[in-house]
Amino acid sequence: MKIDIHSHFFPKISQQEAARLDVERAPWLATHGREGQIMLNNQPFRPVYDALWDAERRLEHLDEQQIDIQIMCATPVMFAYDVAIERALPWAQLMNDKALEMASANPQRLKVLAQVPLQDSDAACREASRAKACGHIGVQIGNHVGAKDLDHESLITFLTHCAREEIPVLVHPWDMMGGADRMKKWMLPWLVAMPAETQLAILSLILSGAFERLPRNLKLCFAHGGGSFAYLMGRVDNAWEQRDIVREDCPQKPSSYLDRFYVDSAVFDPRALQLLVETMGADRVMLGSDAPFPLGEQQVGHLVSHSALPEESKRQILAANARSFFSLA
Ligand SMILES: [Zn+2]
Repeated sequence: MKIDIHSHFFPKISQQEAARLDVERAPWLATHGREGQIMLNNQPFRPVYDALWDAERRLEHLDEQQIDIQIMCATPVMFAYDVAIERALPWAQLMNDKALEMASANPQRLKVLAQVPLQDSDAACREASRAKACGHIGVQIGNHVGAKDLDHESLITFLTHCAREEIPVLVHPWDMMGGADRMKKWMLPWLVAMPAETQLAILSLILSGAFERLPRNLKLCFAHGGGSFAYLMGRVDNAWEQRDIVREDCPQKPSSYLDRFYVDSAVFDPRALQLLVETMGADRVMLGSDAPFPLGEQQVGHLVSHSALPEESKRQILAANARSFFSLA
């Protein structure tokens, strides 16, 4: 049994449809047969292929990869957190409706997470609840909204709402730090800044003391194995012990908050997976592929299945943890 909790979709939307969100920057999809290009206005953003938007092709991919259930969420370029809420809310609703439409090809195997206009926490809470009522099994959020990290009061309000309404949250890095001057080529934003963004998101919740205020029942998962976080946990604990400015808002040792969140397994190296499972516990890691992108796991579940982990841990990571996290039947 394999449940993949981290995969993306992008609906077939025309340049005219996207222009309702933002003429200059809204993403849209240009397709030529099985190949496509996510476009920003007239600029190509990313080459893609049809499993991203075509449910039948996605189901064939699931069969090829022997994935029983795949959870899809927006491609982060769809978030629109910097657009006026009057346009961002209907956009999020449209994307969420299109996600359900794609999943309707086989609702037993394709599940979806909603996107929300996180720049407005009231609207984000309402859309998360609406989406849950419509059939979304959780939400995906970006790890920050401009200068606001996850510990910002408006994001805490949103996370608290999700806890109260029992809506699981997947946090995905996006809008990467460093800028085009430093992260200039070779996909450096994806290779260096993305893991750092996730580390920043996790530490902003731990070191701000936010976990002291957030309800314990909040279901929170970070993509890409939590980025650079597991490898650097010792560095953070040491800093907390040695420097009072690190302890200022965080009453407990940072590693004591590891039981407040989950991570996916997209780390691409058996040694990294081993460290991640030892750090988090096998009950807090879930199979995540990042399909259908080239930076995702090409043989979904291979890393976990072929690891030296005990069979029981593999079973938990490949499906059982996801089943309970997303309350799947
Ligand atoms: Zn992803």
